[in-house]
Amino acid sequence: MARYLANKQTREIHDLINATDACQINEIKGEHRLMVDDEDEVFHLIMEEGFNGCSYCLSEYNTDTIDPDWDDSPWLHL
Ligand SMILES: [Zn+2]
Repeated sequence: MARYLANKQTREIHDLINATDACQINEIKGEHRLMVDDEDEVFHLIMEEGFNGCSYCLSEYNTDTIDPDWDDSPWLHL
């Protein structure tokens, strides 16, 4: 089963394991849902397709909050 759910309308990606009520995943319409199996695909969507990690459940990939000086930033490993 896919771990991540991308919203094609808002271009946010949610981590279904860490999702909270604030993610409002149930509000995402079927035609806007994109199931994502693994982290490689999450990277691809963020880097190539303009998606962003949800600030609630996938904050380590939220480009609005990432600190470029943070040593453990996943961006360093791309
Ligand atoms: Zn979320």
